[in-house]
Amino acid sequence: MIDREMSCGVLVVGSGGAGLRAACAAAEAGASVLLATKGRVNRSGATLLAGANVSADVMCDGGSLWRMGIKSADPNDTQERWFSDIVHEGFYLNRRELVRQYVEQAPARVSELLQDGAVQTSAEEGGRQIGIPGSAILDVLWRRVRAAGVRVLQDVTLCDLLPDGSGAAAGALLLDIPSGELIAVKSGAVVLATGGMHGCYAFNSGTSGLCGEGQAAAMRLGADMTLMEMVTFCPDVICAPRRFRGNILPYILQCIGYGSLKNRLDEDFLPRYYSDSAIRLALGSEWNKLLLSYAMFREAQAGRCDEYGGVRYTLAGLTAAQRAELEETLPQLSRGIYRDIMALHDRQGWLSVSAAGHYFDGGIAVNADMSSSVPGLFAAGECTGGLFGANRVAAATTQMLVQGAAAGGSAAKYARDAGARNADPAALERACADALAPLYAAGGGSPRKVRAKVIEAVSQSAGIVRSAQGMAEGLRLLDETEETAAAPQRRERAANREWLDALETRSLRACGRAILLSSLARGESRGVFVRSDCPATDNDRFLCETLLHGGEVTLRPVEQGAPAAAPGKADYFEELERVFARLSYAEGDAANG
Ligand SMILES: Cc1cc2nc3c(=O)[nH]c(=O)nc-3n(C[C@H](O)[C@H](O)[C@H](O)COP(=O)(O)OP(=O)(O)OC[C@H]3O[C@@H](n4cnc5c(N)ncnc54)[C@H](O)[C@@H]3O)c2cc1C
Repeated sequence: MIDREMSCGVLVVGSGGAGLRAACAAAEAGASVLLATKGRVNRSGATLLAGANVSADVMCDGGSLWRMGIKSADPNDTQERWFSDIVHEGFYLNRRELVRQYVEQAPARVSELLQDGAVQTSAEEGGRQIGIPGSAILDVLWRRVRAAGVRVLQDVTLCDLLPDGSGAAAGALLLDIPSGELIAVKSGAVVLATGGMHGCYAFNSGTSGLCGEGQAAAMRLGADMTLMEMVTFCPDVICAPRRFRGNILPYILQCIGYGSLKNRLDEDFLPRYYSDSAIRLALGSEWNKLLLSYAMFREAQAGRCDEYGGVRYTLAGLTAAQRAELEETLPQLSRGIYRDIMALHDRQGWLSVSAAGHYFDGGIAVNADMSSSVPGLFAAGECTGGLFGANRVAAATTQMLVQGAAAGGSAAKYARDAGARNADPAALERACADALAPLYAAGGGSPRKVRAKVIEAVSQSAGIVRSAQGMAEGLRLLDETEETAAAPQRRERAANREWLDALETRSLRACGRAILLSSLARGESRGVFVRSDCPATDNDRFLCETLLHGGEVTLRPVEQGAPAAAPGKADYFEELERVFARLSYAEGDAANG
């Protein structure tokens, strides 16, 4: 059944920022590295879209940035303060060893990015971030990967991870999409860097290839998953027209202080849900993602959205001077797709926007060396979970750089010690049979339609506001989709989009189920989502990670106690907790709708 065999010391799957950084770290540590990715090697995944590819924030503590010569940064900021902020705003669920590693290694990763030629396009005054377009980050990393002599396979998809006889990861089965060939890769260690599970949501801000296939394969191999329920939604994402659907430009503009939101009736709807101080949080803090998305959800529920399901983002209130200032700040607005989006805005006076599945805070459970619970299996970037706890308030770009470098180094060491091992023949045979199954399915439904049902089930039941009843129904619908085999009409292997659909659907279903099971186990509201049937945050019972293993969720208490609040931040955190409590209450209070 196998068409080709390959072997390497370290196999890296995925070529966003985490995969590229892992590949060069492993190669620079002496491993022979094979980098396998869906799509084009430095033009796939969420990294390409970071900051709408206008200006992604890349972060480290202000003091370190200042010492790198970024004089707009806050020289008095420290790693301790940053650590404290991340843990507080992660609602205490963060794996502390990951946060420690993140804040300590961020300066080295950011400074090498600049030294390797990434051009900084902006810097936050008094803050912790500089702006670099996502594509520029990829270009810099890709140069380094090529210089390190990494072999690359493009346009392949991970079908399954392969265990050796002891259950340790010993390679992977890949499908070469254009030819339809199955490739068995034997490796000493595997690094998964396959990004988020965006495809689980009908409306999302990611690229189409992000279907949680790394997470699903890790689950099948027996890896622990953590905090799968924590899905961050991005507000202000363009709903229509189709060409711009999923673009987050309005969010980027709103983050830098431009534009306002109205519902279909031209009402300023935020005061309906929030006090003045909460609106300040919604417009001026990293809590904008939850607070704006939540208000948009409520407006949709109340029937005050437009025909595309969105509210209206508008720059109409800007003076000519403010508009000129905006165009000077972001010169990209006069080019390419951004010019077209701005032209549409100016023609109709608004853009239809809604909340989209955006960032996955949960994923493969990892330790600070990026090892998972399966020997030989490492992971980095957005496919992992635990760093940001219940809400990400620091840069995922920095996450992919820090974790990618750590994972590559650890995997190289593991591979050196363990050597390339053979996959268990029975596991290889099973993986091939599973990959080919859709092509041999008798009867069955259209893969597109089965996929759409899976996505509908997850989108409806695992959004910003969830309930036990809704999630049980979501799980039932997912089970129902399993009864229909997804069978492509065309049975040839080469460039068979329907076959790919069937394979991706298997992972979307597994990830959707994991999100729902973990959300059900968390009988409270916390961080990025609200349980309408358990509106309060319950620190007595749920100061816990959800750990999913073999379809069962257990609650593991996190390291107790919050670190001392960073200077000047105590009031802010108290305010945040008050807003969150009120938000949860409002959802429980039907009269408030
Ligand atoms: C629109 C948008 C804007 C964002 N803006 C910011 C920002 O400004 N600042 C910030 O910090 N973060 C931002 N983020 C988040 C951040 O971009 C991501 O978390 C980060 O880039 C993830 O990097 P990664 O390498 O882990 O995954 P990705 O960059 O998503 O890469 C995943 C890789 O895996 C490959 N892959 C997937 N499935 C398979 C498979 N089955 N087989 C083989 N390969 C596979 C993909 O093709 C891709 O190459 C944004 C995200 C989005 C969607």
